[in-house]
Amino acid sequence: MSILSPNYKIGEMRYKEFGKTGKKVSVLGFGGMRFDPKDEETAIRAVQRAAELGINYFDTAPGYCEDTSETFIGKALSALPKKKQKDIHISTKSHIGADPKADDVRRRIEDQLRKFKRDKIQFYNMWCILDLAQFKEIMAPGGPYEGVLKAKQEGLIEHICASTHASGEEIAEIVKAGVFEGITLGYNILNHEFRKEGMMAAAKAGCAVVTMNPLGGGMLTRDEEMLSVLKEDEADSFIAAALRFNLSHPEITVVLAGMKDAAEVEFNVKVAESVQEPDPEVVERLIKKFESLGESFCTGCRYCLEHCPEEIQIHLYAGLWDRVRMKLPEDAHRVYKVYLAGEDNWLKGKRASDCTQCGECEQACTQKLPIREYMENIAKFLGEE
Ligand code: SF4
Ligand code: SF4
Repeated sequence: MSILSPNYKIGEMRYKEFGKTGKKVSVLGFGGMRFDPKDEETAIRAVQRAAELGINYFDTAPGYCEDTSETFIGKALSALPKKKQKDIHISTKSHIGADPKADDVRRRIEDQLRKFKRDKIQFYNMWCILDLAQFKEIMAPGGPYEGVLKAKQEGLIEHICASTHASGEEIAEIVKAGVFEGITLGYNILNHEFRKEGMMAAAKAGCAVVTMNPLGGGMLTRDEEMLSVLKEDEADSFIAAALRFNLSHPEITVVLAGMKDAAEVEFNVKVAESVQEPDPEVVERLIKKFESLGESFCTGCRYCLEHCPEEIQIHLYAGLWDRVRMKLPEDAHRVYKVYLAGEDNWLKGKRASDCTQCGECEQACTQKLPIREYMENIAKFLGEE
């Protein structure tokens, strides 16, 4: 029975052990990347409502929501009764691009502690590891990991974690290094195949698994007609179904969902409480339903990259074009700006307009996407020269 059916009985928030840290966290985590930077009141209300409803894992980062997210979360949580604050865990991050040296990370942590009005941060992430090469840079002597380790020894942070956009295979390698107590990865019904190996390896190693982007970065929220196939019944919603997909995995510790106001918090809590036990059968059922759509999207697997003589970051441009296809053009522009801002890391100096239409990549594409058409369309859409 769907959670939106009138007779549905809601359960209670479920909590799980966060890896081997001894901490218990809510299966639904608050993603602090969707606030309106000009509306502090709504943001604070959303965070406090989440805490009232049992969410105790709050994820944020420098720069989120025009750099307001950490401040909003700090203000909202520090205003709660002291007793309540004790059970609440904050997760935040530092990126090697902005904080390349150990001392930079140290300065960052001091600033974050001020924003949170706390004397320690529970989960500190090496943010957005793109691949193994970047992982090595983070771990190099004098690099960011050294800074975060020192902060842990001094009691400023409790647990060192990572967030990553690497492939499942690379995530499995990163987990093997045994330096992180939790891994945050983008995982949803669109890209599950690509990240599954990493998720399973982390869970097997006793490392907490936090998933972000359960709605495919917004892609699963727009085409209601097409995605209605995911619904359990007429009263269900495909957004609830996409969240249920992640919540039903036994391997996942926390499902992060970006929430901008109290209404979204209440909706997501209701979905989380409707999944009282992880259930692999629900996962399989949803995968079959999604596959029945016959629609293909770029999963970000990157198998095509080594075939491109122009070294275009095909997966990024394909993801942008999928956003346009899913009626998210403004989102495509927003993400493209992020890529341009971190040009060296993301686009590696190549453009979709560099595509020579050779077709080499299409043989390798796991989703059999018409990549040449994708490149032509997205280059035009973005106005690349
Ligand atoms: S068709 Fe374009 S994107 Fe694909 S391999 Fe050739 S140059 Fe690269
Ligand atoms: S274009 Fe195809 S092969 Fe390349 S990343 Fe996307 S799904 Fe994978």
